[in-house]
Amino acid sequence: YVKHAGKNGYELFVNSMNVVAKRRLALETGLRHAIEDNELTLHYQPQVDLRSGKIVGVEALLRWKSEQLGDVSPVEFISVAEETGLISAIGEWVMREACRQARQWQLDGLPHIRVAVNLSVRQFAKQHLEQLVAQVLEDTGLPVNCLELEITENMLMDDVEGSVETLHRLKALGVQLAIDDFGTGYSSLSYLKRFPIDRLKVDRSFITHVTTDHDDAAVTQAIIAVAHNMGLSVTAEGVEEKAQLAFLKQHACEEVQGYFFSRPLKADDLAAFLKVGNGYITQLPE
Ligand code: C2E
Ligand code: MG
Ligand code: MG
Ligand code: MG
Repeated sequence: YVKHAGKNGYELFVNSMNVVAKRRLALETGLRHAIEDNELTLHYQPQVDLRSGKIVGVEALLRWKSEQLGDVSPVEFISVAEETGLISAIGEWVMREACRQARQWQLDGLPHIRVAVNLSVRQFAKQHLEQLVAQVLEDTGLPVNCLELEITENMLMDDVEGSVETLHRLKALGVQLAIDDFGTGYSSLSYLKRFPIDRLKVDRSFITHVTTDHDDAAVTQAIIAVAHNMGLSVTAEGVEEKAQLAFLKQHACEEVQGYFFSRPLKADDLAAFLKVGNGYITQLPE
């Protein structure tokens, strides 16, 4: 409380505000040039089919190495990009780069896999998103069924009617649709059936303690059951341990993604990862 904090307390408050404001300004300034200065890259994290051990897809995850700020986490800079509107250009770059790279792997003779792209709030709310997606697919030559779009629960619930329409227009193209971070938002199960989606991604926060915490295990099992009853497939995020894998396999979760199999990789490293087992995980535990 400023009045009681005295002169020093007040200064401390102003200074800490400055730190936040300065960081924010530096992020914004840096982001404005990030694309043209080639500071953005995508890393790709494998998604593995639990029954076969096949690498069925990758999630494209944005990385920013800023000249001034060094490596900045997407958790920090995506929100700044959203607030400043820079996300439009960045989001379009991500979509193009992910599709270009996925097509390049195919042309290089690697096993065909899906590539999943995260959509931002603004991107999803934008008119004619499907036109951009269609254009990028045409330009890059990536087969439409190889692209998956990830949308979070809260993005869908912001405007349910609008979301249903947008998803139908995207689905009409033939792309795959997934709900990301499922279980952490406020979507109601009754809405779920209105969305033409293909997959739920169980949030990492449930997977972390799934083998030791009864509640997390119950939520995970419930999500899998609901998904399967609605004809949806399930991907578990953040799988780091063998025991988590065993739990998920036992409960018929289709796919997993996490450090257990691989961290997000540079494009070349992902290609090497695909080559090693000809598209399969070489050491799938029982
Ligand atoms: P997300 O879409 O839920 O992505 C999964 C995050 O979990 C990634 O963090 C990934 O590196 C991390 N992860 C994967 N497996 C594990 C694991 O086993 N353990 C742990 N501890 N973490 C794991 P990342 O790359 O830092 O991205 C964070 C978030 O930033 C993403 O969450 C997504 O919401 C956002 N993001 C990243 N790239 C993009 C993008 O191109 N566009 C948009 N709009 N958002 C993006
Ligand atoms: Mg995601
Ligand atoms: Mg997620
Ligand atoms: Mg997340």
